[in-house]
Amino acid sequence: MLTNEYLKRVYAQVEARDAHESEFLQAVREVFESLELVIDKHPEWEAAGLLERFVEPERTIEFRVPWVDDNGVTRVNRGYRVQYNSAIGPYKGGLRFHPSVNLSIMKFLGFEQILKNSLTSLPMGGGKGGSDFDPKGKSDAEVMRFCQSFMSELYRHIGQFTDVPAGDIGVGAREIGFLFGQYKKLTDRFDGAVLTGKGLTYGGSLARTQATGFGLCYFSAEALKHLRNTSYEGKTVVVSGSGNVAQYCAQKVGVLGGKVVAMSDSQGYIYDPNGINLDVLFDIKQKRRARISVYADEVAGSTYVEGCKNIWKVKCDIAHPCASQNEMDAEGAQALVDNGCMAVFEGANMPLTPEAIAIIQNNGLLYSPGKASNAGGVATSGLEMTQNSIRMSWSFDEVDEKLHGIMQNIFKACYDASVECGKPGDLMVGANVAGFLKVANAMMAQGVV
Ligand code: NDP
Repeated sequence: MLTNEYLKRVYAQVEARDAHESEFLQAVREVFESLELVIDKHPEWEAAGLLERFVEPERTIEFRVPWVDDNGVTRVNRGYRVQYNSAIGPYKGGLRFHPSVNLSIMKFLGFEQILKNSLTSLPMGGGKGGSDFDPKGKSDAEVMRFCQSFMSELYRHIGQFTDVPAGDIGVGAREIGFLFGQYKKLTDRFDGAVLTGKGLTYGGSLARTQATGFGLCYFSAEALKHLRNTSYEGKTVVVSGSGNVAQYCAQKVGVLGGKVVAMSDSQGYIYDPNGINLDVLFDIKQKRRARISVYADEVAGSTYVEGCKNIWKVKCDIAHPCASQNEMDAEGAQALVDNGCMAVFEGANMPLTPEAIAIIQNNGLLYSPGKASNAGGVATSGLEMTQNSIRMSWSFDEVDEKLHGIMQNIFKACYDASVECGKPGDLMVGANVAGFLKVANAMMAQGVV
Protein backbone atom coordinates (compact mmCIF):
# COMPACT_ATOMS: atom_id res chain seq x y z
CA MET A 1 0.00 0.00 0.00
CA LEU A 2 1.24 3.51 -0.75
CA THR A 3 1.39 5.79 2.28
CA ASN A 4 3.87 8.52 1.31
CA GLU A 5 1.98 11.60 0.08
CA TYR A 6 4.33 12.35 -2.82
CA LEU A 7 4.22 8.77 -4.12
CA LYS A 8 0.45 8.69 -3.72
CA ARG A 9 0.02 11.96 -5.60
CA VAL A 10 2.21 10.96 -8.54
CA TYR A 11 0.63 7.51 -8.75
CA ALA A 12 -2.84 9.09 -8.77
CA GLN A 13 -1.75 11.32 -11.67
CA VAL A 14 -0.49 8.32 -13.63
CA GLU A 15 -3.69 6.43 -12.89
CA ALA A 16 -5.85 9.34 -14.01
CA ARG A 17 -3.89 9.88 -17.23
CA ASP A 18 -3.37 6.26 -18.23
CA ALA A 19 -6.32 4.52 -16.61
CA HIS A 20 -6.60 1.93 -19.38
CA GLU A 21 -2.90 0.95 -19.32
CA SER A 22 -3.16 -1.85 -16.77
CA GLU A 23 0.28 -3.44 -17.25
CA PHE A 24 1.96 -0.05 -17.07
CA LEU A 25 0.12 0.86 -13.86
CA GLN A 26 1.05 -2.51 -12.37
CA ALA A 27 4.75 -1.91 -13.05
CA VAL A 28 4.73 1.64 -11.67
CA ARG A 29 2.87 0.62 -8.54
CA GLU A 30 5.31 -2.18 -7.71
CA VAL A 31 8.27 0.19 -7.99
CA PHE A 32 6.57 2.94 -6.00
CA GLU A 33 5.76 0.51 -3.18
CA SER A 34 9.47 -0.27 -2.89
CA LEU A 35 10.41 3.43 -2.99
CA GLU A 36 8.30 3.94 0.15
CA LEU A 37 11.37 2.69 2.02
CA VAL A 38 13.72 5.41 0.77
CA ILE A 39 11.61 8.38 -0.21
CA ASP A 40 11.65 10.09 3.19
CA LYS A 41 15.42 10.47 2.92
CA HIS A 42 15.11 12.44 -0.33
CA PRO A 43 12.89 15.51 0.00
CA GLU A 44 14.85 17.02 -2.92
CA TRP A 45 13.16 14.61 -5.31
CA GLU A 46 9.75 16.19 -4.82
CA ALA A 47 11.15 19.70 -5.20
CA ALA A 48 12.67 18.65 -8.55
CA GLY A 49 9.54 16.85 -9.78
CA LEU A 50 11.69 13.77 -10.13
CA LEU A 51 8.99 11.11 -9.99
CA GLU A 52 6.66 13.01 -12.31
CA ARG A 53 9.48 13.00 -14.86
CA PHE A 54 10.51 9.43 -14.12
CA VAL A 55 7.08 7.97 -14.97
CA GLU A 56 6.72 9.90 -18.22
CA PRO A 57 8.60 8.60 -21.31
CA GLU A 58 10.98 11.16 -22.80
CA ARG A 59 9.52 10.36 -26.21
CA THR A 60 6.93 7.93 -27.61
CA ILE A 61 6.86 7.12 -31.30
CA GLU A 62 3.90 5.36 -32.88
CA PHE A 63 3.82 4.59 -36.58
CA ARG A 64 2.11 2.74 -39.41
CA VAL A 65 3.80 -0.39 -40.76
CA PRO A 66 2.33 -1.30 -44.17
CA TRP A 67 3.53 -4.46 -45.91
CA VAL A 68 2.37 -6.85 -48.63
CA ASP A 69 1.76 -10.54 -47.88
CA ASP A 70 2.56 -13.47 -50.17
CA ASN A 71 -0.87 -13.24 -51.79
CA GLY A 72 -0.34 -9.61 -52.76
CA VAL A 73 -2.70 -8.34 -50.06
CA THR A 74 -1.70 -5.14 -48.25
CA ARG A 75 -1.57 -5.44 -44.46
CA VAL A 76 -1.13 -2.68 -41.90
CA ASN A 77 0.34 -3.11 -38.43
CA ARG A 78 1.14 -0.60 -35.73
CA GLY A 79 4.74 0.08 -34.70
CA TYR A 80 6.03 1.59 -31.46
CA ARG A 81 9.21 2.83 -29.85
CA VAL A 82 9.04 4.17 -26.32
CA GLN A 83 12.25 6.10 -25.55
CA TYR A 84 11.76 6.16 -21.82
CA ASN A 85 14.80 7.45 -20.00
CA SER A 86 18.29 8.42 -21.18
CA ALA A 87 19.72 9.67 -17.87
CA ILE A 88 22.49 7.06 -17.70
CA GLY A 89 22.97 6.19 -21.39
CA PRO A 90 21.31 5.85 -24.78
CA TYR A 91 17.87 4.23 -24.72
CA LYS A 92 18.27 0.47 -24.83
CA GLY A 93 15.67 -2.29 -24.91
CA GLY A 94 14.16 -4.93 -27.14
CA LEU A 95 11.57 -5.03 -29.88
CA ARG A 96 8.56 -7.31 -29.39
CA PHE A 97 6.47 -8.63 -32.29
CA HIS A 98 3.32 -10.20 -30.86
CA PRO A 99 -0.41 -9.63 -31.49
CA SER A 100 -0.91 -8.54 -27.87
CA VAL A 101 1.46 -5.55 -28.22
CA ASN A 102 -0.10 -2.19 -27.32
CA LEU A 103 1.09 1.03 -25.72
CA SER A 104 0.51 -0.20 -22.17
CA ILE A 105 2.76 -3.22 -22.74
CA MET A 106 5.41 -1.09 -24.45
CA LYS A 107 5.40 1.38 -21.57
CA PHE A 108 5.56 -1.23 -18.81
CA LEU A 109 8.46 -2.94 -20.56
CA GLY A 110 10.26 0.37 -21.15
CA PHE A 111 9.74 1.43 -17.55
CA GLU A 112 11.11 -1.88 -16.20
CA GLN A 113 14.01 -1.62 -18.61
CA ILE A 114 15.23 1.65 -17.04
CA LEU A 115 15.82 -0.06 -13.70
CA LYS A 116 17.12 -3.28 -15.24
CA ASN A 117 19.71 -1.48 -17.32
CA SER A 118 20.75 0.55 -14.31
CA LEU A 119 21.35 -2.66 -12.34
CA THR A 120 23.74 -3.99 -14.99
CA SER A 121 26.09 -1.10 -14.10
CA LEU A 122 26.58 -0.48 -17.85
CA PRO A 123 25.77 2.94 -19.36
CA MET A 124 22.37 2.19 -20.87
CA GLY A 125 19.10 4.09 -20.59
CA GLY A 126 15.69 2.43 -20.94
CA GLY A 127 13.44 1.94 -23.94
CA LYS A 128 11.24 -0.64 -25.65
CA GLY A 129 9.48 -1.07 -28.95
CA GLY A 130 7.65 -3.47 -31.17
CA SER A 131 4.54 -4.15 -33.14
CA ASP A 132 1.28 -6.07 -33.02
CA PHE A 133 2.60 -8.07 -36.00
CA ASP A 134 2.55 -11.85 -35.47
CA PRO A 135 5.53 -13.60 -37.10
CA LYS A 136 3.91 -16.99 -36.44
CA GLY A 137 2.66 -18.65 -39.59
CA LYS A 138 4.32 -16.06 -41.84
CA SER A 139 6.83 -16.99 -44.53
CA ASP A 140 10.42 -15.75 -44.29
CA ALA A 141 9.66 -13.39 -47.20
CA GLU A 142 6.69 -11.90 -45.35
CA VAL A 143 8.73 -11.44 -42.18
CA MET A 144 11.44 -9.75 -44.24
CA ARG A 145 9.02 -7.33 -45.89
CA PHE A 146 7.47 -6.49 -42.54
CA CYS A 147 10.88 -5.88 -40.93
CA GLN A 148 11.96 -3.68 -43.83
CA SER A 149 8.82 -1.57 -43.54
CA PHE A 150 9.18 -1.34 -39.74
CA MET A 151 12.79 -0.17 -40.07
CA SER A 152 11.88 2.33 -42.81
CA GLU A 153 10.33 4.43 -40.06
CA LEU A 154 12.37 3.37 -37.03
CA TYR A 155 15.78 4.12 -38.57
CA ARG A 156 15.42 7.89 -38.16
CA HIS A 157 14.95 7.52 -34.40
CA ILE A 158 17.83 5.18 -33.49
CA GLY A 159 21.63 5.20 -33.43
CA GLN A 160 24.44 4.00 -31.21
CA PHE A 161 24.40 7.25 -29.19
CA THR A 162 20.61 7.62 -29.23
CA ASP A 163 18.72 4.37 -29.03
CA VAL A 164 19.85 0.77 -29.52
CA PRO A 165 17.06 -1.82 -30.00
CA ALA A 166 17.44 -5.61 -29.65
CA GLY A 167 15.19 -8.70 -29.73
CA ASP A 168 12.38 -9.81 -27.45
CA ILE A 169 9.31 -12.02 -27.93
CA GLY A 170 8.93 -12.77 -31.65
CA VAL A 171 12.17 -11.01 -32.57
CA GLY A 172 15.12 -13.37 -32.87
CA ALA A 173 18.18 -13.69 -35.11
CA ARG A 174 16.11 -13.80 -38.32
CA GLU A 175 14.24 -10.58 -37.57
CA ILE A 176 17.35 -8.72 -36.31
CA GLY A 177 19.14 -9.67 -39.54
CA PHE A 178 16.37 -8.22 -41.72
CA LEU A 179 16.13 -5.09 -39.56
CA PHE A 180 19.89 -4.53 -39.67
CA GLY A 181 20.03 -5.04 -43.45
CA GLN A 182 17.36 -2.40 -44.00
CA TYR A 183 19.01 0.04 -41.56
CA LYS A 184 22.30 -0.32 -43.44
CA LYS A 185 20.63 0.22 -46.79
CA LEU A 186 18.74 3.33 -45.66
CA THR A 187 21.67 5.00 -43.93
CA ASP A 188 24.55 3.70 -46.05
CA ARG A 189 26.43 3.03 -42.81
CA PHE A 190 27.66 -0.19 -41.27
CA ASP A 191 26.84 0.99 -37.79
CA GLY A 192 27.13 -2.27 -35.86
CA ALA A 193 26.25 -0.83 -32.47
CA VAL A 194 22.80 0.37 -33.60
CA LEU A 195 21.17 -3.04 -32.99
CA THR A 196 22.17 -5.92 -30.74
CA GLY A 197 21.49 -9.62 -31.03
CA LYS A 198 23.11 -9.54 -34.46
CA GLY A 199 24.41 -12.66 -36.23
CA LEU A 200 28.03 -13.61 -35.58
CA THR A 201 29.13 -12.86 -39.15
CA TYR A 202 28.10 -9.19 -38.95
CA GLY A 203 28.96 -7.93 -35.48
CA GLY A 204 27.06 -10.12 -33.07
CA SER A 205 28.52 -11.30 -29.79
CA LEU A 206 29.18 -14.87 -28.84
CA ALA A 207 26.97 -15.89 -25.89
CA ARG A 208 24.33 -13.19 -26.58
CA THR A 209 21.82 -15.87 -27.62
CA GLN A 210 22.35 -17.76 -24.39
CA ALA A 211 22.81 -14.73 -22.15
CA THR A 212 19.35 -14.16 -20.67
CA GLY A 213 18.82 -17.81 -19.75
CA PHE A 214 22.37 -18.37 -18.53
CA GLY A 215 22.32 -15.08 -16.62
CA LEU A 216 19.07 -16.06 -14.94
CA CYS A 217 20.72 -19.21 -13.60
CA TYR A 218 23.86 -17.36 -12.50
CA PHE A 219 21.72 -14.91 -10.53
CA SER A 220 19.56 -17.67 -9.07
CA ALA A 221 22.60 -19.72 -8.06
CA GLU A 222 23.89 -16.70 -6.11
CA ALA A 223 20.55 -16.30 -4.35
CA LEU A 224 20.35 -20.01 -3.53
CA LYS A 225 23.91 -19.98 -2.16
CA HIS A 226 23.76 -16.79 -0.10
CA LEU A 227 20.17 -16.91 1.10
CA ARG A 228 19.52 -20.68 1.45
CA ASN A 229 22.98 -22.21 1.52
CA THR A 230 22.09 -24.55 -1.35
CA SER A 231 22.40 -24.91 -5.15
CA TYR A 232 20.66 -26.33 -8.24
CA GLU A 233 22.27 -29.72 -7.55
CA GLY A 234 19.56 -32.39 -7.39
CA LYS A 235 16.69 -29.88 -7.68
CA THR A 236 13.60 -30.44 -9.80
CA VAL A 237 12.89 -27.37 -11.93
CA VAL A 238 9.92 -26.12 -13.97
CA VAL A 239 10.59 -23.59 -16.76
CA SER A 240 7.63 -21.97 -18.48
CA GLY A 241 7.90 -20.90 -22.11
CA SER A 242 10.15 -22.56 -24.68
CA GLY A 243 11.58 -19.55 -26.45
CA ASN A 244 15.01 -17.98 -26.23
CA VAL A 245 15.07 -17.36 -22.49
CA ALA A 246 13.47 -20.66 -21.51
CA GLN A 247 15.71 -22.77 -23.75
CA TYR A 248 19.00 -21.50 -22.39
CA CYS A 249 17.74 -21.34 -18.84
CA ALA A 250 16.87 -25.05 -19.14
CA GLN A 251 20.29 -25.81 -20.60
CA LYS A 252 22.16 -24.06 -17.78
CA VAL A 253 19.96 -25.63 -15.08
CA GLY A 254 21.13 -29.01 -16.39
CA VAL A 255 24.78 -27.96 -16.35
CA LEU A 256 24.39 -26.79 -12.75
CA GLY A 257 22.94 -30.14 -11.66
CA GLY A 258 19.20 -29.51 -11.75
CA LYS A 259 16.56 -31.41 -13.73
CA VAL A 260 13.94 -29.55 -15.82
CA VAL A 261 10.78 -31.67 -15.93
CA ALA A 262 8.28 -29.29 -17.58
CA MET A 263 8.26 -26.57 -20.24
CA SER A 264 5.46 -24.83 -22.15
CA ASP A 265 4.33 -22.64 -25.00
CA SER A 266 1.23 -20.48 -25.19
CA GLN A 267 -1.00 -23.52 -25.87
CA GLY A 268 0.08 -26.05 -23.25
CA TYR A 269 2.94 -27.73 -21.43
CA ILE A 270 5.00 -30.92 -21.62
CA TYR A 271 5.97 -33.03 -18.63
CA ASP A 272 8.90 -35.40 -18.80
CA PRO A 273 9.82 -37.07 -15.49
CA ASN A 274 13.17 -38.12 -16.96
CA GLY A 275 14.13 -34.52 -17.62
CA ILE A 276 13.35 -32.62 -20.84
CA ASN A 277 15.56 -33.77 -23.72
CA LEU A 278 16.88 -30.43 -24.95
CA ASP A 279 18.20 -31.80 -28.26
CA VAL A 280 14.63 -32.67 -29.20
CA LEU A 281 13.18 -29.44 -27.79
CA PHE A 282 15.74 -27.23 -29.58
CA ASP A 283 15.05 -29.04 -32.84
CA ILE A 284 11.29 -28.54 -32.48
CA LYS A 285 11.54 -24.88 -31.53
CA GLN A 286 14.61 -23.59 -33.38
CA LYS A 287 14.53 -25.62 -36.60
CA ARG A 288 10.93 -26.72 -37.12
CA ARG A 289 9.26 -23.75 -35.35
CA ALA A 290 6.57 -26.25 -34.27
CA ARG A 291 4.27 -26.47 -31.24
CA ILE A 292 5.66 -27.95 -28.03
CA SER A 293 3.04 -30.74 -28.13
CA VAL A 294 5.21 -32.40 -30.81
CA TYR A 295 7.68 -33.26 -28.03
CA ALA A 296 5.20 -35.65 -26.38
CA ASP A 297 4.61 -37.34 -29.75
CA GLU A 298 8.31 -38.03 -30.11
CA VAL A 299 9.70 -38.69 -26.62
CA ALA A 300 8.52 -41.82 -24.84
CA GLY A 301 7.40 -41.33 -21.24
CA SER A 302 6.50 -37.65 -21.68
CA THR A 303 3.01 -36.15 -21.73
CA TYR A 304 1.39 -33.02 -23.12
CA VAL A 305 -1.27 -31.06 -21.22
CA GLU A 306 -3.45 -28.36 -22.83
CA GLY A 307 -3.39 -24.94 -21.14
CA CYS A 308 -0.07 -23.33 -20.26
CA LYS A 309 -1.11 -21.96 -16.85
CA ASN A 310 -1.42 -25.47 -15.42
CA ILE A 311 2.35 -25.88 -15.61
CA TRP A 312 2.62 -24.44 -12.07
CA LYS A 313 0.77 -27.50 -10.76
CA VAL A 314 3.81 -29.64 -11.59
CA LYS A 315 5.72 -30.36 -8.38
CA CYS A 316 9.13 -28.70 -8.32
CA ASP A 317 11.79 -27.16 -6.07
CA ILE A 318 12.49 -24.15 -8.28
CA ALA A 319 10.22 -22.36 -10.78
CA HIS A 320 11.48 -20.16 -13.61
CA PRO A 321 8.64 -18.30 -15.37
CA CYS A 322 10.18 -17.45 -18.76
CA ALA A 323 7.20 -16.84 -21.08
CA SER A 324 5.29 -13.57 -20.70
CA GLN A 325 3.75 -10.99 -18.39
CA ASN A 326 1.18 -12.10 -15.80
CA GLU A 327 1.54 -15.75 -16.77
CA MET A 328 1.42 -16.82 -13.11
CA ASP A 329 -1.62 -15.76 -11.09
CA ALA A 330 -2.60 -16.43 -7.48
CA GLU A 331 -3.77 -19.96 -8.28
CA GLY A 332 -0.46 -20.85 -9.91
CA ALA A 333 1.53 -19.37 -7.05
CA GLN A 334 -0.57 -21.23 -4.47
CA ALA A 335 -0.03 -24.49 -6.35
CA LEU A 336 3.74 -23.99 -6.14
CA VAL A 337 3.52 -23.26 -2.40
CA ASP A 338 1.31 -26.30 -1.79
CA ASN A 339 3.78 -28.52 -3.62
CA GLY A 340 6.74 -27.40 -1.50
CA CYS A 341 8.52 -25.20 -4.05
CA MET A 342 11.36 -23.17 -2.48
CA ALA A 343 12.09 -20.44 -5.03
CA VAL A 344 10.64 -18.49 -7.96
CA PHE A 345 13.18 -16.64 -10.09
CA GLU A 346 11.71 -14.67 -12.99
CA GLY A 347 13.12 -14.99 -16.52
CA ALA A 348 10.28 -13.15 -18.24
CA ASN A 349 9.34 -9.52 -17.58
CA MET A 350 6.67 -9.21 -14.86
CA PRO A 351 5.44 -12.82 -15.21
CA LEU A 352 3.81 -12.83 -11.76
CA THR A 353 0.67 -10.88 -10.94
CA PRO A 354 0.90 -8.77 -7.75
CA GLU A 355 -1.28 -11.36 -5.98
CA ALA A 356 1.07 -14.16 -7.03
CA ILE A 357 4.10 -12.22 -5.74
CA ALA A 358 2.37 -11.70 -2.38
CA ILE A 359 1.63 -15.43 -2.03
CA ILE A 360 5.19 -16.39 -2.94
CA GLN A 361 6.76 -13.88 -0.55
CA ASN A 362 4.32 -14.39 2.32
CA ASN A 363 5.05 -18.11 2.28
CA GLY A 364 8.77 -17.55 2.59
CA LEU A 365 9.83 -18.65 -0.89
CA LEU A 366 12.83 -16.94 -2.46
CA TYR A 367 11.70 -14.54 -5.16
CA SER A 368 13.54 -12.41 -7.70
CA PRO A 369 11.94 -9.96 -10.15
CA GLY A 370 12.81 -10.20 -13.83
CA LYS A 371 14.40 -6.78 -13.87
CA ALA A 372 17.20 -8.27 -11.76
CA SER A 373 17.36 -11.93 -12.74
CA ASN A 374 16.84 -11.55 -16.50
CA ALA A 375 19.22 -8.59 -16.90
CA GLY A 376 21.92 -10.83 -18.40
CA GLY A 377 20.44 -10.39 -21.88
CA VAL A 378 20.70 -6.65 -21.99
CA ALA A 379 24.03 -6.76 -20.15
CA THR A 380 25.46 -8.93 -22.91
CA SER A 381 23.91 -6.60 -25.48
CA GLY A 382 25.98 -3.92 -23.74
CA LEU A 383 29.04 -6.14 -24.18
CA GLU A 384 28.13 -6.56 -27.87
CA MET A 385 28.09 -2.75 -28.25
CA THR A 386 31.49 -2.55 -26.58
CA GLN A 387 32.95 -5.12 -28.97
CA ASN A 388 31.46 -3.23 -31.95
CA SER A 389 32.96 0.03 -30.72
CA ILE A 390 36.46 -1.34 -30.18
CA ARG A 391 36.19 -3.50 -33.32
CA MET A 392 37.08 -6.67 -31.48
CA SER A 393 35.30 -9.97 -30.80
CA TRP A 394 35.69 -11.73 -27.52
CA SER A 395 35.55 -15.52 -27.17
CA PHE A 396 32.47 -17.28 -25.83
CA ASP A 397 34.20 -17.93 -22.53
CA GLU A 398 35.31 -14.30 -22.16
CA VAL A 399 31.76 -13.03 -22.65
CA ASP A 400 30.27 -15.74 -20.46
CA GLU A 401 32.72 -14.93 -17.68
CA LYS A 402 31.86 -11.22 -17.85
CA LEU A 403 28.15 -12.11 -17.82
CA HIS A 404 28.65 -14.31 -14.77
CA GLY A 405 30.44 -11.49 -12.94
CA ILE A 406 27.71 -8.98 -13.85
CA MET A 407 24.96 -11.28 -12.53
CA GLN A 408 26.87 -11.83 -9.29
CA ASN A 409 27.19 -8.06 -8.92
CA ILE A 410 23.49 -7.54 -9.61
CA PHE A 411 22.61 -10.03 -6.89
CA LYS A 412 24.94 -8.24 -4.48
CA ALA A 413 23.52 -4.81 -5.36
CA CYS A 414 19.96 -6.08 -4.81
CA TYR A 415 20.86 -7.83 -1.58
CA ASP A 416 22.79 -4.85 -0.18
CA ALA A 417 19.90 -2.50 -1.00
CA SER A 418 17.43 -4.88 0.66
CA VAL A 419 19.53 -4.78 3.82
CA GLU A 420 19.75 -0.98 3.73
CA CYS A 421 15.97 -0.84 3.39
CA GLY A 422 15.55 -3.05 6.44
CA LYS A 423 14.22 -5.96 4.37
CA PRO A 424 17.18 -8.34 4.05
CA GLY A 425 16.68 -10.84 1.25
CA ASP A 426 13.71 -9.04 -0.31
CA LEU A 427 15.19 -8.95 -3.80
CA MET A 428 12.20 -7.12 -5.27
CA VAL A 429 12.69 -4.15 -2.95
CA GLY A 430 16.46 -4.40 -3.47
CA ALA A 431 16.20 -4.40 -7.28
CA ASN A 432 13.76 -1.51 -7.41
CA VAL A 433 15.68 0.65 -4.96
CA ALA A 434 19.20 -0.08 -6.25
CA GLY A 435 18.10 0.40 -9.86
CA PHE A 436 16.23 3.60 -9.11
CA LEU A 437 18.85 5.35 -6.97
CA LYS A 438 21.43 5.43 -9.75
CA VAL A 439 18.95 6.82 -12.29
CA ALA A 440 17.61 9.33 -9.75
CA ASN A 441 21.11 10.61 -9.00
CA ALA A 442 21.83 11.07 -12.71
CA MET A 443 18.51 12.82 -13.29
CA MET A 444 19.09 15.16 -10.36
CA ALA A 445 22.56 16.02 -11.66
CA GLN A 446 21.28 16.81 -15.16
CA GLY A 447 18.58 19.30 -14.17
CA VAL A 448 15.00 19.48 -15.36
CA VAL A 449 15.23 18.06 -18.88
P1 NDP B 1 10.39 -15.95 -27.42
O1 NDP B 1 9.53 -15.34 -28.44
O2 NDP B 1 11.67 -16.58 -27.85
O3 NDP B 1 9.56 -17.05 -26.59
C1 NDP B 1 8.43 -16.71 -25.88
C2 NDP B 1 7.86 -17.96 -25.24
O4 NDP B 1 6.79 -17.59 -24.38
C3 NDP B 1 7.25 -18.92 -26.24
O5 NDP B 1 7.35 -20.23 -25.74
C4 NDP B 1 5.80 -18.47 -26.31
O6 NDP B 1 4.90 -19.48 -26.73
C5 NDP B 1 5.54 -18.12 -24.87
N1 NDP B 1 4.52 -17.06 -24.75
C6 NDP B 1 4.50 -15.85 -25.38
N2 NDP B 1 3.42 -15.15 -25.03
C7 NDP B 1 2.75 -15.92 -24.17
C8 NDP B 1 1.55 -15.74 -23.45
N3 NDP B 1 0.81 -14.61 -23.56
N4 NDP B 1 1.17 -16.74 -22.62
C9 NDP B 1 1.92 -17.87 -22.50
N5 NDP B 1 3.05 -18.09 -23.16
C10 NDP B 1 3.46 -17.13 -23.98
O7 NDP B 1 10.66 -14.80 -26.35
P2 NDP B 1 11.84 -14.68 -25.29
O8 NDP B 1 12.21 -16.02 -24.77
O9 NDP B 1 12.88 -13.82 -25.88
O10 NDP B 1 11.14 -13.82 -24.14
C11 NDP B 1 10.43 -14.43 -23.06
C12 NDP B 1 10.29 -13.43 -21.93
O11 NDP B 1 11.58 -13.02 -21.48
C13 NDP B 1 9.55 -12.13 -22.28
O12 NDP B 1 8.86 -11.66 -21.14
C14 NDP B 1 10.69 -11.18 -22.60
O13 NDP B 1 10.31 -9.82 -22.46
C15 NDP B 1 11.70 -11.60 -21.55
N6 NDP B 1 13.08 -11.24 -21.82
C16 NDP B 1 13.72 -11.65 -22.97
C17 NDP B 1 15.04 -11.32 -23.16
C18 NDP B 1 15.80 -11.83 -24.33
O14 NDP B 1 17.02 -11.63 -24.36
N7 NDP B 1 15.20 -12.50 -25.29
C19 NDP B 1 15.78 -10.47 -22.21
C20 NDP B 1 15.05 -10.17 -21.00
C21 NDP B 1 13.74 -10.53 -20.85
P3 NDP B 1 4.33 -19.45 -28.24
O15 NDP B 1 5.48 -19.84 -29.12
O16 NDP B 1 3.21 -20.42 -28.23
O17 NDP B 1 3.87 -18.03 -28.49
